[in-house]
Amino acid sequence: MAFAGPDPLVAAPRSFGRAAPGQAGLRRAALPRAEPDAPPVPVPSLRDWRRWDRWCRWVERRLARRTLTIDLRADIGSRRWCGGLALLGAYLLPALLCWPTLAPLVAAPLSLPGDDEAAEMRAQAIRPLIAGATTGRHFAATDSVTRLDSVPERATIALTAVLGENDDLVHMLQRLGLAAGDAAAVKAMTAPLGAPAPGTRFAITLGPRAVAGDPRPLSVLSYRPRFDLDVTITRTAGGLSLVKHPIPVDVTPLHLTGVVGSSLYRAARDAGADPDTVQAYLQAIDQYMPFEAIAPGDRFELVVAHKRALDGATSNAGQDGDLLYAGIVRDGKPLLQVMRWGNDGNFYTPEALAGAAEQNSSLLAAPVAGNITSYFGMRRHPILGYVRLHAGIDIAAAWGSPIYAVSDGVVTYAGWHGGHGNYIRLQHGGGIDTGYGHMSRFAVGVGMHVARGQVIGYVGATGLATGPHLHYELFRGGQPVDPLSIRFVPHHAQVDPHELAAFRARMQQLLALPRTGV
Ligand SMILES: [Zn+2]
Repeated sequence: MAFAGPDPLVAAPRSFGRAAPGQAGLRRAALPRAEPDAPPVPVPSLRDWRRWDRWCRWVERRLARRTLTIDLRADIGSRRWCGGLALLGAYLLPALLCWPTLAPLVAAPLSLPGDDEAAEMRAQAIRPLIAGATTGRHFAATDSVTRLDSVPERATIALTAVLGENDDLVHMLQRLGLAAGDAAAVKAMTAPLGAPAPGTRFAITLGPRAVAGDPRPLSVLSYRPRFDLDVTITRTAGGLSLVKHPIPVDVTPLHLTGVVGSSLYRAARDAGADPDTVQAYLQAIDQYMPFEAIAPGDRFELVVAHKRALDGATSNAGQDGDLLYAGIVRDGKPLLQVMRWGNDGNFYTPEALAGAAEQNSSLLAAPVAGNITSYFGMRRHPILGYVRLHAGIDIAAAWGSPIYAVSDGVVTYAGWHGGHGNYIRLQHGGGIDTGYGHMSRFAVGVGMHVARGQVIGYVGATGLATGPHLHYELFRGGQPVDPLSIRFVPHHAQVDPHELAAFRARMQQLLALPRTGV
């Protein structure tokens, strides 16, 4: 609205006057001269920025009233039409000026190197010897370089070799240039230490030989048959002799921890646990807690026996031993803590140990050693294909693994039971029954009394089963309930009551170890 009011900076409004020749004029001519609603357009001065701004708006308004689109089919021959044609020509001209010229390219004249240049190139080029390579300018023959008739031999040759997969020590040493006798002697001397594992690194020094072309005698050979033992074979006056150097070992267990994340297995591997350790950890946890109960935000914690060579060697310098402790931590508080205890390698929670110590009869022994592969609840049957109640849990175990009675009881059924195949049912009293399916073989018969932990049969895949596993059921008052609603304790849980304090003290000791991981 800058043009509407009186403005002292603006000169008296005046008409644009006669159109200048050219586009603007043509368009202007095409438009009605006096539009009733169009205000008189002032021509502002450009002296300062306000006027500049005003001028820009004036240009904007002028352009808004004009069009650059002219229909050349209409009013042929008129001024407006001629202007449109001229505009089209003006558009086309730059495009035509950019028209490419497609003339053939002329190749540069071919210049072959002269003899001198060719000699220079050959001296610097890397070419096969058979093609005349002189292997570099600096080594090309000159007057001051003469060819020797015989080359002096190196006194010794130092080599490093790594034993390959499916390779043989003798073959490897002979390939390195050792005399067959020496290679066989090395094999014989190291035989009591066991065959070296693939990937074992050998440092070998070969001594001078009497005749060129003969295999060289062994001077020194050293390697590590174990991470904590270094062996050196040296040639002395009396032949080869072997010396063992035990390497001091640190046996502080590793204490690893980290966030479970999307994969507990991967997280534990990332924290530095080896695959066997992770496997043992998962098995220990699985005995007391279904994996489904572990949340991605939980932390895992494990302590594993570890031996580490103290000489700073990087390869083959340590090895993990038994898993000692497995735990799950939620919100900073331990959710599950299990620790290896006793000589049978079983893991216990303090509660399970206490329960076992008090001979608490409400705790059941695990029916079989294995991992739970299917839980109680509605699921699609793997063979029948429709959804129904899975009235027990499936525990995968090797064919023929012993199946134990989870508690004292009487055998009320032992025989074929439809999809359960060979099936045993035990009555434990107190309204508790247990069922065991898919057995390969029975160890007890109907009417027999069985004790907790007694073997009642063996794992198989009879009935509707995709593989060897135990289908284990628990009944309360005749109704199937989730067997995991009553926790198992591992077998042979007969621990001296006085051990509980020692157990807790040991757990504190393990958890006080410095942690590794994030
Ligand atoms: Zn089942």
